[in-house]
Amino acid sequence: DWLRVESFDLVPIVDELAEMMHVTFGRTIRVNAVSGSVRMNGDRDKIRQLLVILIDNAIKYSKESIDVTVSSVKQTVRLYVTDKGIGIPENEIPYLFERFYRVDGARARSTGGVGLGLSIAKRIVDLHDGQIEVISKPERGTTIMLQFPFRRL
Ligand code: ATP
Repeated sequence: DWLRVESFDLVPIVDELAEMMHVTFGRTIRVNAVSGSVRMNGDRDKIRQLLVILIDNAIKYSKESIDVTVSSVKQTVRLYVTDKGIGIPENEIPYLFERFYRVDGARARSTGGVGLGLSIAKRIVDLHDGQIEVISKPERGTTIMLQFPFRRL
């Protein structure tokens, strides 16, 4: 696995994805960008894929609008994907990034996934030396927090 690292602005990428997911799934995805542009050095295609996985999950496991927040502090990039959906029981959170892991068979089956999304997401985050964290409450919703350190080109 290797990365094609370049410098890019995350904001238009998130905006474009939000619009695409809105058109495709008819859901509102609010993009909250702390400033008009947030630069990141990384693999643009892989970061886009990562966001597709997280937004797709937020859509699958919730019914209301979704928030994507983009910010950077001292060149560290932060991305949050928040939904107000079914949430994840605390004891399941440690296993989410394992391949083929799905929370609660019955509930998972009705949405038809294979449980690969988050393991791929974790891989992409690791390749960027980033961190991924899950904050979730059953019946309340989920926030997936991503953080990427500054990376030289
Ligand atoms: P796919 O392989 O199509 O992505 P999946 O959504 O089941 O299928 P993952 O993305 O790896 O697979 O997610 C693993 C499990 O974590 C899901 O089955 C689901 O139970 C739970 N999960 C992931 N994201 C959310 C979310 N935003 N809200 C609630 N549960 C979630």
